[in-house]
Amino acid sequence: MPPIPLRFLKSATRVDDLPESDREVAVVGRSNVGKSSLINAFANRTRLAHTSKTPGRTQLINIFEVEPGVTVVDLPGYGYAKVPNRVKQDWGQMIEGYLLHRECLQMVMVLVDGEIGPTKLDVQMLDWLRSNEIPHQVIATKSDKVKSAKKPKRRIELSEGCNLEPGDIVWVSASKGIGIDRLQDLIWSWLAP
Ligand code: GDP
Repeated sequence: MPPIPLRFLKSATRVDDLPESDREVAVVGRSNVGKSSLINAFANRTRLAHTSKTPGRTQLINIFEVEPGVTVVDLPGYGYAKVPNRVKQDWGQMIEGYLLHRECLQMVMVLVDGEIGPTKLDVQMLDWLRSNEIPHQVIATKSDKVKSAKKPKRRIELSEGCNLEPGDIVWVSASKGIGIDRLQDLIWSWLAP
């Protein structure tokens, strides 16, 4: 399947400000996990989503259109240490509100750093999605950073950390283009009517 042709629609600070959609997938992960790079990779663009060396700066929900009524949402990265607690709470509420109430939501892609494995916050997010029965797919990023010899062990460790089987996880590298075709196929299938 071809890349996901994303057109930027708008950024919002409130869920209520998002345009209506029929079918949507969302991307979530802690700051610096490689979210912007991955969105650019599956859209086959270079500067669509903003990649930044200052993690946590994008506190907005960004919404992109694939075709009318079909959208991709980039949720703000969580877990950036240098923001005040009150800001963290606001983010948490915004993300939770979105995930619980967005009716068109088909799938949440939860990005986990493939090199460092799930953080405490990633595990919390996964537990929360499970307990709320929100469909989600774990995607391990930066697979190029794991040396070949260590890959089998890393796959097992990361999946165990997420309470999943190794085969449940999609491994990708945005910088080397690994696993992007497969991810594009999955995204098309989640967005299909
Ligand atoms: P975001 O904060 O989650 O949007 O993360 P970014 O996409 O801005 O990436 C954070 C850092 O990880 C940047 O320095 C990227 O160059 C790097 N990065 C992202 N994806 C990959 C990848 O697939 N492989 C490697 N080696 N580095 C990556």
